[in-house]
Amino acid sequence: MKRLVLATSNRGKLAEIQPLLEGLDYSLVTQGELGVEDAIENGQTFVENALIKARHACACTGLPALADDSGLIVDALDGAPGLVSAHYAGVHGDAAGNIHKLLAELAGIAEPQRTARFYSLIVLLRHADDPQPVIAEGLWEGRILDAPRGDGGFGYDPVFFDPVLGKSAAELSPGLKNRVSHRGRALAALRHLLLPLRAGGGWEGVND
Ligand code: IMP
Repeated sequence: MKRLVLATSNRGKLAEIQPLLEGLDYSLVTQGELGVEDAIENGQTFVENALIKARHACACTGLPALADDSGLIVDALDGAPGLVSAHYAGVHGDAAGNIHKLLAELAGIAEPQRTARFYSLIVLLRHADDPQPVIAEGLWEGRILDAPRGDGGFGYDPVFFDPVLGKSAAELSPGLKNRVSHRGRALAALRHLLLPLRAGGGWEGVND
């Protein structure tokens, strides 16, 4: 079986992305398992960062690579936290600090103006110099609450409200969140783009 490297050390992402490859002649391995350090994400856009991560993983392993980049985009804040979602309050992964800062920035902004969306972009490179990356995107539209709700999920989930479901992202079961979320949608789109591989074809059919 051929291998595809996931440009992350996060085993949670591996579990989320693994089902994508069901039925294919590819098994997924994280770059962490292959001893590859994280790339420096200094891109100006989500797609640039995902490409930086995927190229780094390809170059270090000689394998095709998948990388994703995601974040929260808030209209009233001109798109912030956006690219810096993971360290909006200064420290990488400080979810409570990030939420605190977000709610402070939105203080006094009325509910109809608190529109926001999660965005996820996934890139697949066949090799480090691949001139035609496979790219899939997903969006999840919602609003920012004025106080956290729910105990599930991670990151900004407690303050991200889905008006269709009438719940915060932190109040959804993991299965439901995966179906409606930005990442779930990006993965579904990528699955569709990889259908030629399922039919037993090679990479050639994937980008046609
Ligand atoms: P990453 O690129 O997937 O690591 O995401 C960057 C940051 O965006 C995370 O550290 C979170 O702060 C935020 N984020 C991305 N996806 C989600 C989500 O599904 N729920 C809450 N926060 C998220």
